[in-house]
Amino acid sequence: MFPRIQENVPLAPYTTFRLGGPARYFLDAHSVEDVVEGINFARAKEVPILPLGAGSDILIGDRGFNGLVIRLVALRGMNVERNQVLLKTGEALPKVARILADRGLSGFEYLAGIPGTIGGGVAKNAGAHGKEIGDMLVEAYVVGEDGYIRTLPKEELNLDYRTSALPELGILLEAKFRLSEDDPHLIRGRMERFLAYREEHQPWRERTAGCMFKNPPGHYAGKLIEEAGLKGFRIGGVKVSEKHANFFVNEGGTADDAVRLIEYVRDRVYKVFGIELEVEIEILK
Ligand SMILES: Cc1cc2nc3c(=O)[nH]c(=O)nc-3n(C[C@H](O)[C@H](O)[C@H](O)COP(=O)(O)OP(=O)(O)OC[C@H]3O[C@@H](n4cnc5c(N)ncnc54)[C@H](O)[C@@H]3O)c2cc1C
Repeated sequence: MFPRIQENVPLAPYTTFRLGGPARYFLDAHSVEDVVEGINFARAKEVPILPLGAGSDILIGDRGFNGLVIRLVALRGMNVERNQVLLKTGEALPKVARILADRGLSGFEYLAGIPGTIGGGVAKNAGAHGKEIGDMLVEAYVVGEDGYIRTLPKEELNLDYRTSALPELGILLEAKFRLSEDDPHLIRGRMERFLAYREEHQPWRERTAGCMFKNPPGHYAGKLIEEAGLKGFRIGGVKVSEKHANFFVNEGGTADDAVRLIEYVRDRVYKVFGIELEVEIEILK
C-alpha cells in the first residue's frame, strides 16, 4: 500500500555530520503526493514525522529515529517572475544563489555557503553575513498533519534567530521570496568574497553540522569556546575544530561522543564565563 516507504534505513549518510542510527521508516519523497502519502502512513502507524532536507543542521542520536523520516531533497524546481521567485523545498541554497546572481537578483548570495535546502533554510531561518532567509520570504506553502496544503504568510512562521514555527506547523513544500535587483557582476563579486571568507575561517569541507551554538547576545560562541581553551578538544571521535571553535568535527566518532562534547563545552564555558550557550542545531537523542 505504501511501496516507497522503506524500513530501518541508516540516517548518517543523509547528514553532513555523518552521525546517527537508522530511521524506523524512511521515504525519499519525489512529489507532493509522496509527502501526503507519508503523512497518511505516519498517521496510520501512529509514529512521528521528521522532515529532512540536506541534514546539515541536525544531530541524530545513535539509536536513530523511531518514526518516519521524509527526505525532501528531490522536490526541486524554481520559477522566477521579475523580482519574485518560487522555490521548491529541496532546492539547494548554493545552487539557488548562483542562478539568481546570474539573473541579477540579490539576496541569496549571502547564503551561498550554507549547505542546506530551502525547507531547512526557512525552518532554521538560515542566515550569514548580516542577512537571513526570512528577510526575503513572502509566504510559504505548507502541508499539515491533516494532509491539507495551506499558504502561510511569513508572519505566521514566527521566524527568529535560527528558529521558526516549522516543522511544528507542517512540512514546507514551496516558498515565495522577493529579491532586489542588482548588477550580476556585483552580486557574484559579493558571493565570491563570502565563499572565500568561509574557506579561510570555517572547516566547511569536513564532517560538521555547522555552528553548534547560537551566539549569545554581545558575544561570539566560537570565541568563548576558544578562550575557554577548548580548540582541538576531543571526546571519542568528535572534536572541537581547530579552525573555528563553534564547529565540531566528526573524525569517526558516534552521536554519543558529539552529545557528550556539547555538554562538556557548555559546562566549561559556563564555568569560565558564566554564560549559558544555547545549542543551534537540532538534536534528536
Ligand atoms: C559547513 C556548514 C556551514 C553552515 N553555515 C551556516 C550559516 O552560515 N548560517 C546558517 O544559518 N546555517 C549554517 N549551517 C547550518 C545549516 O546548513 C542550515 O541551518 C540549513 O539551512 C539547514 O538546511 P537543511 O536542508 O540541511 O536542514 P536539515 O538539517 O535537513 O533540517 C533542519 C531542521 O529543519 C527541518 N526541516 C527541514 N526541511 C523542512 C521542511 N521542508 N519543512 C519543515 N521543516 C523542515 C528539519 O526537520 C530540522 O528540524 C551550516 C552547516 C554546515 C554543515
